Amino acid sequence: MRPGTMDFTAAREEMVERQLRRRGIRDPRVLAAMRSIPREEFVPAEMREKAYQDEPVQIGGGQTISQPYMTALMVESLELAGGESVLEVGAGSGYHAAVLGAIAGRVISLEIQPALAALAEANLRRAGAGGDVRVICADGSLGWPEEAPYDAVSVAAAAPFVPPALLEQLKDPGRLVIPVGDLEEQDLCLVSKHAGEVRSRAITGCRFVPLRGGQGWRE
Ligand code: SAH
Repeated sequence: MRPGTMDFTAAREEMVERQLRRRGIRDPRVLAAMRSIPREEFVPAEMREKAYQDEPVQIGGGQTISQPYMTALMVESLELAGGESVLEVGAGSGYHAAVLGAIAGRVISLEIQPALAALAEANLRRAGAGGDVRVICADGSLGWPEEAPYDAVSVAAAAPFVPPALLEQLKDPGRLVIPVGDLEEQDLCLVSKHAGEVRSRAITGCRFVPLRGGQGWRE
């Protein structure tokens, strides 16, 4: 196909079928959200043809939009039923926030790089992403106490440890998903709070860009 003539609807269907469903993503809400959100609006214009590839894509500022499967796995692990308030750390392109916004009631997405916060906001607007999604430029390793507590927290950058502020701002019961490890590789951890108890389990190995800020990695 000539550039600019790609059938994004077909590419999106194929992504959901091959990359998500066949690999075990089952939550109908996650599948429906990713079937409807135009991912091509969240990658740089010259990368649109690669929007549905099975890999992360560079979005500028040294950052990437995660592989579709990783976004699906993270959102599914939060077991959202609709109506929840969710905090995301690392808005990047805004795609993950759009998926969360299609399912949850309210999403606050924090981004530490001003240019990317503006990009995420512009992408969300252009994509016509529904839901109540707000992008704020701030250090997400400290959370966003103004709107806490949250039913769920999703961190899209690799942390050396679970930032205490994020755990504090999580409701009981509540779920938090976060890659924890070193700069090279991490475990995607699902931390759940229930009846005053906090438990953590690793879902899979992964590789994310570093979490910066007060409770992240130093430059
Ligand atoms: N969820 C994004 C991908 C995120 S990439 C998407 O769907 O496109 C990770 C992002 O986390 C980067 O944009 C990076 O700038 C941001 N980030 C890193 N440390 C951060 C911090 N302390 N607070 C907020 N954002 C942070």
